[in-house]
Amino acid sequence: MPQERRLTTNADDQRRAVILHGRPLVLDVDGTLILADSEQWNDPRPLPGAREFLARLRKKGRPFLLLTNGTARPPDDYIGRLRAAGLDVRPGELLTPAVVAAELLTRNHPGEPVFVLGDKGARQPLLSRGIRVLDRREATTARVVFVGWAPALTYEDLTAAARAIWGGAEFWTAVTARALAAQGGRAPAMGGALMAAVAHVTSTLPRLIGKPAQEALQVAARLLGFPLRDLVMVGDDLEIDVSMARQAGCTAVLVRTGTDRDAPEDVADLSVTDLSELLPFI
Ligand SMILES: [Mg+2]
Repeated sequence: MPQERRLTTNADDQRRAVILHGRPLVLDVDGTLILADSEQWNDPRPLPGAREFLARLRKKGRPFLLLTNGTARPPDDYIGRLRAAGLDVRPGELLTPAVVAAELLTRNHPGEPVFVLGDKGARQPLLSRGIRVLDRREATTARVVFVGWAPALTYEDLTAAARAIWGGAEFWTAVTARALAAQGGRAPAMGGALMAAVAHVTSTLPRLIGKPAQEALQVAARLLGFPLRDLVMVGDDLEIDVSMARQAGCTAVLVRTGTDRDAPEDVADLSVTDLSELLPFI
């Protein structure tokens, strides 16, 4: 039945073209554009079609942003690693939870000091917006505690974070996810474990800043200059990328190159094997 098959393909193609036509895109990174060794992206390997997809977006002048949950590095450091792997991403085009936190702090908590459990990837986006980041001795005066990727964390840091929250600081976390798509299948997302330690001690649930928090997508929409509902979110993870997009009422595209390779077709507005399938529609 070759003819019938071709008709089905045409209908699928039309659907893909309609879904993607002229819309701004928000792209997940781990499992969508690359598979890396860990949250640090020491060895990011582009996934099939990723280089060409970004090149096509650039050539066509399509608005897009990358949205990752990583805070192991400042955005420009991550971007340098993606560029070295042949992905055409430029400064300002990658959002991390620390960038989203800096946006939210600037808008909703101007002038308020923050205690960060994290390395420079969690701190630098805040400092670059002029946000006061406290050291451990001053942590009790914090209005917000923000937990990110913190490999040099000490027992004293955790204690200071707990005391700040007992003292009335809001508790924010970059991630709650337990793992990310990586080479060999997955890598642990240890920021969530640090968050859980503080949550346990303080009996306080954190406010999630990274995906699938709606704020993360709202900040992306604001920076792109489009209404939230116009966005197309492209990602590999049903619980993170697809559910966030669905909740926000925007379009969800699942790529089967990362966490959810075997999900049913109808879980997203569009499901593709990898990004190369989307190339003709950009
Ligand atoms: Mg992912």
